[in-house]
Amino acid sequence: MRYQELAVLAEFTYTIPALSRGYADQTLYVNVGHDQIVARPVSDDMKERFVGGRGFDLWLLWHAVNDATRWDSPENEIVISSGPCGGTSQYPGSGKSIAATISPLTDIVIDSNAGGHFGPYLKFAGWDAIELQGLAERDVIVTIDASAGRGGEGRVRIIEVPDDCPVDTHVLGHWINSTFAASESDRQLMAFVSTGSGSRATRMGCLNFSLYDRKRRDLRYKQAGRGGIGTVFRHKRIRAVIVHTTPFGADTNGPADPARIARTGADMRQEITRWDPVQNRMRSRGTSYLVQIMNDYDLLPVKNFQFGTHEDAPQISGDVWEQRFTQNMPDGCWYGCTLACAHAVDNYRVQTGPYAGGCVIVDGPEYETIAGVGSNCGIFDPAAILEINFYCDTYGIDTISFGTSMAFAMECFEAGVLTEDLTGGIDLSFGNADGALAVLHQMAEGVGFGLILGQGIRRMKQIFVERFDADPCFVDDIGMEAKGLEYSEYMTKESLAQQGGYGLTNKGPQHDEAWLIFMDQVNNQIPTFEDKAEALHYFPMWRTWFGLCGFCKLPWNDVVDPENALSVDPAKVPHHVENYIQIFSGVTGHEVTADDLIRMSERVYNLQRVFNLRLGKGQRDHDRVPYRSQGPVTPAEYLSRQDRYDRQLRDWLGLDPNTMTTEEKLAAHREHRTDQYERLIDAVYARRGWTSNGIPTPDTLRALDLADASILEVVQRYL
Ligand code: SF4
Repeated sequence: MRYQELAVLAEFTYTIPALSRGYADQTLYVNVGHDQIVARPVSDDMKERFVGGRGFDLWLLWHAVNDATRWDSPENEIVISSGPCGGTSQYPGSGKSIAATISPLTDIVIDSNAGGHFGPYLKFAGWDAIELQGLAERDVIVTIDASAGRGGEGRVRIIEVPDDCPVDTHVLGHWINSTFAASESDRQLMAFVSTGSGSRATRMGCLNFSLYDRKRRDLRYKQAGRGGIGTVFRHKRIRAVIVHTTPFGADTNGPADPARIARTGADMRQEITRWDPVQNRMRSRGTSYLVQIMNDYDLLPVKNFQFGTHEDAPQISGDVWEQRFTQNMPDGCWYGCTLACAHAVDNYRVQTGPYAGGCVIVDGPEYETIAGVGSNCGIFDPAAILEINFYCDTYGIDTISFGTSMAFAMECFEAGVLTEDLTGGIDLSFGNADGALAVLHQMAEGVGFGLILGQGIRRMKQIFVERFDADPCFVDDIGMEAKGLEYSEYMTKESLAQQGGYGLTNKGPQHDEAWLIFMDQVNNQIPTFEDKAEALHYFPMWRTWFGLCGFCKLPWNDVVDPENALSVDPAKVPHHVENYIQIFSGVTGHEVTADDLIRMSERVYNLQRVFNLRLGKGQRDHDRVPYRSQGPVTPAEYLSRQDRYDRQLRDWLGLDPNTMTTEEKLAAHREHRTDQYERLIDAVYARRGWTSNGIPTPDTLRALDLADASILEVVQRYL
């Protein structure tokens, strides 16, 4: 079928603008419930205060919803934006898209970033962001056709999905290519967002962002995984959003000073080429290099975060994946990324489920997937990890939420909370990859125990207590979620700062806000509460800034010149911060300082906090974390690190462990560790300018130029 034969439900034409200093100066609003398409201007105020990316997402969402909006309300939106630097191809890692919505897992705003070509292409097509609102009555595809080029006529359409259109992403992609792309160059200039069948009956649906891999001449996908954005997408009955742009180059983003960007980018590319081969080897192993490091430092989640190391970890380490990944391919998720960590396994033969026997590309696995569906579930078989990775992606299921939820279910199974009677005959012992896959296929079909696991840990806990007679304290302690979002894959028991790095986030425990374990636990660089609070102010703001502009975090600190160690503040990587100042100024024409970058983020970060308050969350109670993230829950956990825990009882509390039972030791640790976390919350709130209940004060908001009446009114409800 060709696209000309498809039923068009709505059409909108526009003149494709040239980009100026990183912006198209308009956003695209599409209501799939009302078949409505509108262009909206971007004001200077919006650019100055919210920058782009996550900032634009939040600001547009803020105006789209009301206090009672929930994830499945028609007015909830999915907003996607790349930011002013998105689409820059001279500096590594400048092509991220950031998506946001009200999450079906957390009932607050979730933001999640992805590589792939969609965000930059959307901007090249003339749109700084897209808002997707409404609930369609039948499945639709949104197309944005800017193939006419600058000054030409662009066309946005809502198209009815025909019966032969597949749902799961890897087959949908081939259908889209054959339907909408007449030539190889069309395929290269097209990108789309989709999800899969797994997002229909679960709350952890992800979005897949496509990229056409020129070397492989095939499609690949990067995921905006967190918080169920794919579930919202599917609920809106959007099968795909496709953008088709024209050939682009270094100046398409309209930078103010292209030479400055080229100079800075050349330096950085040289640095990566020189140091990556002798540091993390991300160009050949991707983020899988982290497995061995985490295992060595007792930080790799094993069996639902009980343990931090396992003798079989080398079987899933970076060296193993280096052998599996196809080498000598420029595996960047956007053009010009020299770090090129986005590896894939080609010609993978699918073993199970509806696509068994098929030959596919598996994107990844990345560290989070290896640790989440691997070690955390007691699975150390690379083939099983690949199979789960492939199906999570094509079904549109977040590998982190799936892995952490499965690990929780497995521990419950081994503890007798779940039985085969309750799982429908599936053995969910740790290490049983067949059981995990059986549940994953059920999630896509919307049947059996897959329906329960797909609700995520917070709702599973409730089901287990109410229907399966589980001990509420036990499942609360071991269920690794906060705010309703499943933990990403790092052990935090010995890093109080990282407990805050997960707990004191706006969206839930995701490492893209703060990762302080080495500074805190390994290098002891932030020993006091004030030190930790300062780190929990600076680093979340700094990392937020990447999401405002369209940058990937990895080139910031995953490869550094060794001379960085001699700088005043090596954890911040000052030389790279300077690079970002140069790129931002070079694109937008605004001269900025390092402090300006933090202030941009602080404004957006506080807006997100107030957004949570508006939706009835965002107070101190919501920043608490499960005890498994703070300390040992079970005697087995205690005994696995008895020497360390006994020493801590002596050093921290002046107790004699030789006179105590294991239960007494567990209780002493719990009292101390939970108290420490409360003191950390106090210190962080004070540093962030929030009340002791976590409410941004009016003074804080005014100082951030965020004193809009609608924002202050929300805050006043809580003061
Ligand atoms: S470092 Fe990796 S994830 Fe980041 S932009 Fe480059 S290829 Fe993509």
